[in-house]
Amino acid sequence: MDSSFFFRALFSQFIYLYSRMNIPSKIVEQAVEEFATLPSIGKRSALRFVLHLLKQDPEDLEGLATAILKLKNDIKYCKQCQNIADKEVCEICANPNRDHSLICVVEDVRDVMAIENTLQFKGVYHVLGGLISPMDGIGPNDLKIEELVTKVSQNKTSEIIFALSTTMEGDTTNFYIYKKIESLGIKTSMLSRGVSVGDELAYADELTLGNSILNRTPFEMSFQK
Ligand SMILES: [Zn+2]
Repeated sequence: MDSSFFFRALFSQFIYLYSRMNIPSKIVEQAVEEFATLPSIGKRSALRFVLHLLKQDPEDLEGLATAILKLKNDIKYCKQCQNIADKEVCEICANPNRDHSLICVVEDVRDVMAIENTLQFKGVYHVLGGLISPMDGIGPNDLKIEELVTKVSQNKTSEIIFALSTTMEGDTTNFYIYKKIESLGIKTSMLSRGVSVGDELAYADELTLGNSILNRTPFEMSFQK
């Protein structure tokens, strides 16, 4: 018999037995199921977490449980930019040294963190909470676009920077917002394409992202009028 075939068969048998995971406790099994709902966590990793937690002191577990509960009960979304915050207004919006007339539009809070890490941006943000994606059933009304339009039409805004991922969904969302605010005559720009086409913003390195925000280009240049 072909030895590679033999090892493959043995391996798949091992995976099958392992994946059945006859856990001798319903409580542990339920905890494993809960951990396995987290992104990128399979059942085996979930079991490893649970077995690790079983060895911890009760005080440490209480600290973890409290931190998780606080996420849902105490975290707020900034009423000005939709960033996560501990108060009604996030630290960035509350900072008088930031340029509140310069608004950087991003998909989610990970992008705020990525741009903040570059130390190159002194304006404020607007977090959309996603991108327009008809394939996934996400339309403009599912995002914080109206909040952005209201904000820029009521306040003195000098420039809006589109810093969305360079994907088809990102381009669609940029263009939708641009059309909504075009009549207001506000300067619009987008990151220079040091951020490669198809890249998710949060995964761009700090130097590339920092340069992209400094060398941003007028949004009108990105499409044929
Ligand atoms: Zn804010």
